[in-house]
Amino acid sequence: MNQQSNEIKPIRLELGKIGLGAGEFQLIAGPCSVENREQVLRIAQAVKAAGATILRGGAFKPRSSPYTFQGLREHGIELLLAAKRATGLAIVTEITELGQLPLFTDVDIIQVGARNMQNFELLRELSHSQKPILLKRGMGNTLEELLLSAEYLLAGGNQRVILCERGIRTFEHSTRYTLDISAVPVLKSLTGLPVIVDPSHGTGFSHLVGSMALAATAAGADGLMIEVHDNPAAALSDGQQSLTPEQFLVLAEQVRKIRAVL
Ligand code: PEP
Ligand code: MN
Repeated sequence: MNQQSNEIKPIRLELGKIGLGAGEFQLIAGPCSVENREQVLRIAQAVKAAGATILRGGAFKPRSSPYTFQGLREHGIELLLAAKRATGLAIVTEITELGQLPLFTDVDIIQVGARNMQNFELLRELSHSQKPILLKRGMGNTLEELLLSAEYLLAGGNQRVILCERGIRTFEHSTRYTLDISAVPVLKSLTGLPVIVDPSHGTGFSHLVGSMALAATAAGADGLMIEVHDNPAAALSDGQQSLTPEQFLVLAEQVRKIRAVL
């Protein structure tokens, strides 16, 4: 990991009507989990109005406890596709197992979550797809390991890879994870792939999301993934780290200001 940044050419990924990377920045926002049709439609419209271009929402949820909400699964994907049709937003959602792939035909970006960053069989299979893959850093993985996982996709023929820093486990307990903002410049010195940051999972608390989102933007991230819920207290997952649509609107404006300064 000792190449110089001046050798690296930033890559712009085409995501339907939008681009990501090489100077193009996108806001990805939406609920942690797709809960029902009305919820995902309302939140999709709100984040679109604030300037998000990509809707996130979990359908297959990798939860630490089997007794918590596990996601709407196939039906969740159907509801995301309905929100895509209604708003024109691109959608990103997580795959957790190879057999789910046929359900992702109309999904714009397939997410490989932190827990599956080193699921090499899954990566190998996704390398044969031409779908953009949003690859999240494992909570216990180095940046070198993240890049090696990306390499599985690239080597297999899928060049459409987005890297995502989402926090790592450290001894610090005041945040859910420790968001490694330095991952952005480090990754950018080693690869031209777009690098985005998820300050929602990275901090675990909604009151910390804004400052870390701005820090990640200032550090040169190509985009942000932010959890938004219109009733965080009643969210079926990750309510405590979800912004309200009103908070997201304010943050999106601040992000645009930081981008303008840069
Ligand atoms: C998510 O984005 O829904 C998610 C589960 O994130 P992570 O894989 O980073 O924990
Ligand atoms: Mn979540």
